[in-house]
Parts: sequence; structure tokens; C-alpha cells
Amino acid sequence: MSALSQKRPDVGADDPEGSERGKTLDELDFWINAVGSPLVVVERRRLVARRGNRAAELMFGIANSAMDGAPLLDFVGPEANQMLGQIWSNAPVGVTGEPFLIRAQVQGHERLLMVQVTKIVVEYEELRLFTWVDAPPTGSVAMAGWQEKIIDMLNWLPFGFEIASNDEQIQFANSQFNVMFGHSQDDISNIDDWFTLSYPDPQYREYARSKWEEELGKARAEDREMTPFDLKVRTASGQDRTIQFRHRTVGSFNVNLYLDVTAERAAARELKRLSETDPLTSVMNRRRFFEQAGKRYAKQSDQPLAILVLDLDEFKSINDRHGHNAGDLVLQEFAARCSDIVGTDGLFARFGGEEFVALVGDTAERSAMQAAEDIRSAIASRPFAIPSGTLTVTVSGGLSYRANGEELSHTILRADEALYAAKRAGRNRICG
Ligand code: GH3
Ligand code: MG
Ligand code: MG
Repeated sequence: MSALSQKRPDVGADDPEGSERGKTLDELDFWINAVGSPLVVVERRRLVARRGNRAAELMFGIANSAMDGAPLLDFVGPEANQMLGQIWSNAPVGVTGEPFLIRAQVQGHERLLMVQVTKIVVEYEELRLFTWVDAPPTGSVAMAGWQEKIIDMLNWLPFGFEIASNDEQIQFANSQFNVMFGHSQDDISNIDDWFTLSYPDPQYREYARSKWEEELGKARAEDREMTPFDLKVRTASGQDRTIQFRHRTVGSFNVNLYLDVTAERAAARELKRLSETDPLTSVMNRRRFFEQAGKRYAKQSDQPLAILVLDLDEFKSINDRHGHNAGDLVLQEFAARCSDIVGTDGLFARFGGEEFVALVGDTAERSAMQAAEDIRSAIASRPFAIPSGTLTVTVSGGLSYRANGEELSHTILRADEALYAAKRAGRNRICG
């Protein structure tokens, strides 16, 4: 007679679930043997088996008849036995607990087993049903847990994440994708919808399309991630955003990342502007002048270009007599008048202090020397307003045409020399 059948029905005095009869022994035998994977029924408080099914017999090499009362140590060895002693199963009766892995000695061989425990009640007695399977490779159990959560994780990403199939049908788009593009899944059923909604201007849409095709083509030909690029995207709420596009083909899926870089790009543009602009006069600074004039020198090699260096006359005395603030106002007004005359065809920059530089070319309407003279007279002929009244200001200039193939810095040097000649000759004049 088995230990189980000797059990008295009133054993549950200290057992809150003992008042429930649960399954009969026959039912237990029937059900565990109907299951193909190894099952062992174990006592509630001790690691002692009561029953095993056919599959358990095969796995552990212990005959069913010998299982009743056999310590679990005989099934799995000491290490796993100790671990099993530490496993808690808090799930209610009939509910399978979390799977856990044990390294077991089974019939003399080490095996990695995944075990799940279910509380059951048989003939008023609470028992534990152990389910054993050979564990998948280490790590995949933990993976199984996080795979369920992967959609939550993708929705938490701070950028748009989209998976499309080969035929460009969207298979998955995370929450951020929807936030960024604002389109519902109903709105976007294919790639054409997406292009029409995101790039309302047909010309820009064509540009976006060709950019995609070009970059995707290169990436696929070389089997690599697409080189990221930016496009201006119109969201459904009507906002224009700068989006950085990233793409990778993974198996038969196209994985796209969409990073909203609107703020970063705007900040970078502002930083660039600040680094190229004179803060007092808002005209370009020396650095930007060299960059831009250098480009003109490289491009318009056969066109007559001239450098005009300007220096305000007796400027120190303006500061001395009317204060630094008045001096600043004069510099601002001076820069504004000069910029107007130089126009957008030329370049005008503050070189530092009260020195300025212009790049002017001969045009059909006006020679560079005429432009310089226009500047001189525009300063001298109209008084400057300062808080205490008005001031007459004059400027001297040195003009130098670019010699054949000459470097920019050299033309500037020669213009500087002409400026000093203008100063020596009595100021308020242009020498060249
Ligand atoms: P010159 O006719 O020979 O050019 O005489 P100048 O007084 O203009 O020449 P100098 O180089 O002796 O003086 C230039 C003055 O410009 C000195 C400096 O204090 C002033 N300065 C330079 N930068 C600024 C500025 O940003 N604001 C003001 N208010 N003054 C400036
Ligand atoms: Mg000076
Ligand atoms: Mg001066």
C-alpha cells in the first residue's frame, strides 16, 4: 500500500486547504499519465516523491513503483536537490509558478532542467506537481520573460521605430513614431500615403524620394546600415520637424529609426550663426569673411575682385568725448550704412575694433573704387545720431584689386598699406 493511500483524510488540521478534497488518487494517476512531459508529484514539506508519470520514469530512470517515498535527491542529485529546497511556490492551487532552471545530475549525467511547480490537492492533501523539461540554452528563459515586454520597451524608446516588410507595408510602429508623425495606422497603409502626408510640397517630396532611393540603394548594395540623413517632415498636426532617418535591413524586414532632431539642428544653426557674427554690429566677423571671401576667390578667379579695408577716423576721440556707448552706436550705424552700399553681391565684415573689410567686385553699374567712394561719402555726408546729439564721422579706406592668382591674405595686406596711405594723406579718403 502506498504512503499516499495510507494518508488519513483529516490530515489538514494545520492546513487551511486541507478541507478541500481535491482530486482523487485515480484522477491524479490518470492525468499525470495523460501528459507527455515528465511529472513528479512531491510532498508539500519534504522533497520526497509520491508519484511519477511514464515520462518521468524514462527521464530519471526510476520505476514508477519505486517512486512513492523516494527522495528527490535520487532523481536530481545533491546540488539540484538543495536548490529545489529553496524554491518557493506561492501561486494558488492549480496555477503553475514561474519556471526556474536547475543543474541536475540525472542518471549520472549533468542536465540543465527547467522546472515548474504547481500546487495541487489530492485526497485532502496539498502536494506539489513538478514538471521537468530539458532547459533551452541558458539565457533564453530570461529572454522569454523580456520578449513579452518588448513591445512596451519599443514604445518607451525616445525615437520613432518602425518595421516594414519587403513590400514596404508597415508591420509595426512604436508610440513615438505615432507621436512624431501623428498619423494613425488607418492613414498610412502604404509608402505612397506616407510620402504624400509627410512631404506635402511635390517638389520636396520628389527630393525626399530620390534621397531615400539613393541612400537605400547604396546601403543595400554594400549590405550596411544606410548613411543617416535629415529631411523636413510635415506632421499631421501641421508642424514641420527635422527628422533624421536611419535604416537597416534585418532579414526580410526594413527597420527604420526616426529621430526628431529639430531642436538640435536649430541650436546648431544658432551656434554657427553666433560664431560667424559680430555681436555688436550683426555683420559677419573676420572668420566668416575669410571663409566666404576664400570661396569667392576660388570660384570667381577671372572676375575683378577688390578688397576694401576701412578704419574709422579719430575714433578714439569719439569714445573719449562722448563715451563708449556713443562709440558703439556709431559702429552699429557705420556697419549698417556700409552693408547697404556693399549689398548682397559683396561681403562686408567687422575685422575688429573700428576696422572693417569689404569684398567688392567691378560690376556694369559701378566699379569697386566707386563703391568705396560711395561708402566714404555716405559716412561723411550724414551725421551720426548719439544720445547727446549728432556727430560727424569720417572713414579712411584702402582698396586693392586682386592680382592674378593672388592669395586673399596678400590682397588684404596691400589694401592695408593703401589704408595707411589714406591716413597719412589726411584721412576721410580712399587710396588704392
Ligand atoms: P585713426 O584715425 O588713426 O584710426 O585713429 P583712431 O582713434 O580711430 O585709432 P585708434 O586705433 O587709436 O583707436 C581705435 C579705438 O577704437 C580704440 C578703442 O578703444 C576703440 N574701440 C575698439 N573697439 C571698440 C568698440 O567695440 N566699441 C567702442 N566704443 N570703441 C571701440
Ligand atoms: Mg584702427
Ligand atoms: Mg581708427
